[in-house]
Amino acid sequence: MNSSSFAKTLLFWISFLFVGVLLWRLVSANHIQTNEDQPSYSEFMAKVEAGDLKEVTMYLSPNSYDLQGEYVRPANRGFHLTIPKEAAPALMEQLRKKGVLVRVKEIRSSDWTLILLNAAPLILLVGFCLFLMRRMQSSGWRNPWRQSQGVRTGIGYDLHRLAEGRKLIVGGIELPFDKGPVGHSDGDVLAHALCDALLGAAGLGDIGTHFPDTDPKWKGANSLLFLEHAKKLLDEKHFAIEHVDAVVITEKPKLGPHFPKMREALAKALGIPADKIHLKAKTNEGVDAIGRGEAIAAHVVATLVSR
Ligand code: MG
Repeated sequence: MNSSSFAKTLLFWISFLFVGVLLWRLVSANHIQTNEDQPSYSEFMAKVEAGDLKEVTMYLSPNSYDLQGEYVRPANRGFHLTIPKEAAPALMEQLRKKGVLVRVKEIRSSDWTLILLNAAPLILLVGFCLFLMRRMQSSGWRNPWRQSQGVRTGIGYDLHRLAEGRKLIVGGIELPFDKGPVGHSDGDVLAHALCDALLGAAGLGDIGTHFPDTDPKWKGANSLLFLEHAKKLLDEKHFAIEHVDAVVITEKPKLGPHFPKMREALAKALGIPADKIHLKAKTNEGVDAIGRGEAIAAHVVATLVSR
C-alpha cells in the first residue's frame, strides 16, 4: 500500500469513528433526557423541602438560569429547571438554608458537545466537498471557475546513435537487441521526446534545462524519472495530459509487439491511463543513419488541458 492509499484508508476510518462517536453521543443525549425530570418550580421546591436533593448546579445564561442535578430520591434521576434571572438570588438563599450545595457555572461542559454536534454536519460537508474536489481534479476535471488557459500542444524530438554493448531502452522498456543508444542517461529516445513535448506544451523549457547531460547525477539514469518530474511540474501549473501521440523511427528491431508494455510504463510514470498514449513505429526505408541502423529517433506531440 502506497502512502496515498494509506492516508485515504486512515481518513476513511477516522471519519467512520467520528460519525460513530457522534451517533453514540446523540443516542446518549436522548437516553439522558429520558432519565431527566423537568419539574415545575413548586414541584422542585417540594423536593427541596423533602430533602430529596443535595446538590444543584446553576448555569448562567443572559436572561435565565438553568438548574441541573440529581435527586437523592429516587436515585440516579436527574432534573432540569429554568428560572428567571431575578428569582435566582432568593432561590439560592433558600437552597443554602436547606443545606443544598449550590454550584454556579458560566457555561456547561455539555454546551461544547452541543456546539460540536451542531457544527459536525458543516465540518463533514466541507470535508466531503474538499475530498470531492481533489478526486475530480485528479481525474482530470476542469474547474469552470478557474480562468481557463485552454488547450496546449507541445512537440518533442530526439535522436540517439546506436552502438554495440548498450542496452536498448525505448519507452521505459528494455528490448532484446545487440545495439543500444549512446547517451548520458539510458538514452530512451521516446521518453526524452515525450518529456520535451510535455515541457514545451506547458512552457517549461526542455529536458536539457531540467536534466543537463553535464550533471553526473543523471549518468545512466532511468528516463522515466524525467517523466515523473515533468508530471510534477505540470501538476504545479494545473495542466492535465489529455493525449500523447508518438512515432518511433528505427530500422530494427520491430517495436509494435512491445507497445503495450511501453504504454503501460509511460502511463505509470505520468500517472495517466494508458489509453491516453498512442504509439506508432516507422522504419526509414534504409535511408540515412536511421536507415543504416546507426541511430534511433522519436517524434512526440503532447496535448495538455488546463484544469
Ligand atoms: Mg536524448
